[in-house]
Amino acid sequence: MTEAAAATVAGIVPDETAEVRRLPSLSPSRAADFKTCPLLFRFRSIDRLPEQPSADQARGTLVHAVLEKLFDHASAERTEATAAALIAPQWERLAVEQPELAGLFADGESDQLAGFLASARELLGGYFSVEDPRRLDPAEREALIEATIDDQLLIRGYVDRLDISPAGDLRVVDYKTGGAPREAFEARALFQLKFYALVLWRTRGVVPRVLRLLYLKDAQVCDYSPDAEELVSFERTLIALWRAIEAATAAQDFRPKPSKLCAWCSHQVRCPAFGGEVPPFPQQLTVATADSRQLRLDGVQQP
Ligand code: SF4
Repeated sequence: MTEAAAATVAGIVPDETAEVRRLPSLSPSRAADFKTCPLLFRFRSIDRLPEQPSADQARGTLVHAVLEKLFDHASAERTEATAAALIAPQWERLAVEQPELAGLFADGESDQLAGFLASARELLGGYFSVEDPRRLDPAEREALIEATIDDQLLIRGYVDRLDISPAGDLRVVDYKTGGAPREAFEARALFQLKFYALVLWRTRGVVPRVLRLLYLKDAQVCDYSPDAEELVSFERTLIALWRAIEAATAAQDFRPKPSKLCAWCSHQVRCPAFGGEVPPFPQQLTVATADSRQLRLDGVQQP
């Protein structure tokens, strides 16, 4: 193992450009990857193998962007028509910023693109059937939140929306846009929301009153109310998970864990569970345990 790898395993992400010792960080997506399948974690966070976004993922990215922009409008203007009018310009912006999304619809496939944009509009219809954004005043949208636990691990992630009542109660809202069966992802979705609840509790001293999942395809709402005792237990779980990631990295041992989620995995071709061969473990090791915010993975690789 290289010195850099040893440092990372020891809990220090090396920074070769400055004499800065940063804490290792963990996002809900990467933590859930390891829980779902250690080999999937390795492919994404250590090998950093590219994944071509699917149409479901691209649609999720687009719908999240539209819902974020919708709240830039005055409350009376937050209608379904306003949201529909945001779809095309937001797609054009995303296609420039993330060319891999634009690549889903090659030249001459305008019918496919039109169908894709129409399907985004359908999902937004699901949103409007479960919420009236004219009556909401979100405190934060697409907000990066982070906290340090166990004195050495930075846990961080982006919440779709945070609502704060006049009494100071917090409600964390997450939009689920995937076309995959909801039950296949629900445990992972709740893991993600508890992760955010823990960060908010540790940084603001308030346990969120409600963790809310909005399933736009099904037009359903799933509310969950955590308590402090549960979050203490969840924190212990995260610390244990991080130690397991460190141990697996030191041993270069990330095993496949087949499940129904394999159907959405981009890496079957190199997975032994599907007859594939795992590539050699990278020698120059940096571990990407936190998200970039470029691509929505919910409902496909993650709920
Ligand atoms: S195909 Fe399944 S077992 Fe293999 S890496 Fe992907 S999620 Fe893991």
